[in-house]
Amino acid sequence: MGVSQSRPVRRNTMSNPKFKPYTRQSIRQARQWQWLPPDQQEAVQVVSHVMPFRTNEYVMEQLIDWSRVPDDPIYRLTFPHRDMLPIEEYRTLRDLVMVKQDDAAIAAYVHQIRMRMNPHPAGQMTHNVPRVNDAPLRGLQHKYNETVLFFPSSGQTCHAYCTFCFRWPQFVGMEDMKFDAKETGELVSYLKNHKEVTDVLITGGDPMIMNTRSLADFIEPLLAPELEHIQNIRIGTKSVAYWPQRFVTDRDADDLLRLFEKVVAAGKNMAIMGHYNHAVELRQDIAQKAVKRIVGTGATLRMQGPLIRHINEDPHSWAELWRTGVRLGAIPYYMFVERDTGPREYFQLPLARAHEIFQQAYQMVSGLARTVRGPSMSAFPGKVVIDGVANIAGEKVFALQFLQARNPDWVRKPFYAKYDPEATWLDHLKPAFGQERFFFETEGQPHHVAPVERKVIPIGSAREGCTHHSNAA
Ligand code: SF4
Repeated sequence: MGVSQSRPVRRNTMSNPKFKPYTRQSIRQARQWQWLPPDQQEAVQVVSHVMPFRTNEYVMEQLIDWSRVPDDPIYRLTFPHRDMLPIEEYRTLRDLVMVKQDDAAIAAYVHQIRMRMNPHPAGQMTHNVPRVNDAPLRGLQHKYNETVLFFPSSGQTCHAYCTFCFRWPQFVGMEDMKFDAKETGELVSYLKNHKEVTDVLITGGDPMIMNTRSLADFIEPLLAPELEHIQNIRIGTKSVAYWPQRFVTDRDADDLLRLFEKVVAAGKNMAIMGHYNHAVELRQDIAQKAVKRIVGTGATLRMQGPLIRHINEDPHSWAELWRTGVRLGAIPYYMFVERDTGPREYFQLPLARAHEIFQQAYQMVSGLARTVRGPSMSAFPGKVVIDGVANIAGEKVFALQFLQARNPDWVRKPFYAKYDPEATWLDHLKPAFGQERFFFETEGQPHHVAPVERKVIPIGSAREGCTHHSNAA
């Protein structure tokens, strides 16, 4: 690996740790930085201009196995790598960053790269933002009838950043693409008028980056009697993996658990949507304690995450993750297909392979872990799961269905696509059996169902929650 110094695998000196983040500017101060050979240090410095880079001491000390870097899955998950950019782009950017050091030219070139990376996939800039009196509600999204997504402004960062994340406009100062809400006033007014909504998903970024008092300011208004129709308050979070201390040793960890108990006592489901990417994240004692403490409040914890090449394309890792989660009281929920955004060429896997990995992992676990669904694409028309590969009437096909859809009539209606071993996303697929279009492309909105978008989501600028831990998007 071209590393001259010996590297301890992991050091566990964190009995009562303080959260300590590292960024491009401060990573040189980490003791592990010197273990990276110059080309990897350079890649971090260069590529992090495009993909935001943030990690933390816990991830560095306990999750990354430095004897396996750069192939360690958590290193790949949090550290930018040169192959995340096409060769020419990397060279040009490297020249600007390392040689010319021209800030204006770097900014212009980085913007150009980001814009080609589909920063807001699945119609989030055009279809999901609710409006009141024709004004868009900043920090809200309403894509499916029953669920509203809420983006508190102070929850728009994370304890570490995932290199594959499609939420990156939130982190890199693209103000015109960023969305957040300063308080719950508009959300509460909107919900009062939308009795069809049963779920509010608080997402980001990661809302668990907030202290408990700030989080309570967003959650407690949702317990008001006039919002009786809100049954489930969900929080999408990766803190269960990147900073489980949030639930165990942080100064206000106990207060956080009391807040969860308060929601439960109010008769609502406090649902933590935990984003996990790899079994190693749940091997740590602190991460296991976090799960136990969360479910001990009466809250539920569901496990979900995307399938990512270079990080978790191993069915054994998924099976271990789900098994451990079930043992601790969590509920395996979703395996997602990597989205059509960011450095997808680096991270994507063919749908056929994704299905194989899901199937193999599913076959390794008991019925209690088979609550998990996948592999699922959060695409423009809805959430589409690949049920399998079959031969029907002499044709090899993908069997698919919507688990969630913009039009509720589409849900759980099987449909078929020609088998394509290269396809990585829904829009690569062609209908099977000689059909020209998929049913949802020709059906449009049935006249007996009010179109979901037009009922509550007129076209407007919009953004979407991170489906990696916010599955309602
Ligand atoms: S995937 Fe989630 S935790 Fe990771 S950077 Fe994106 S929003 Fe943050």
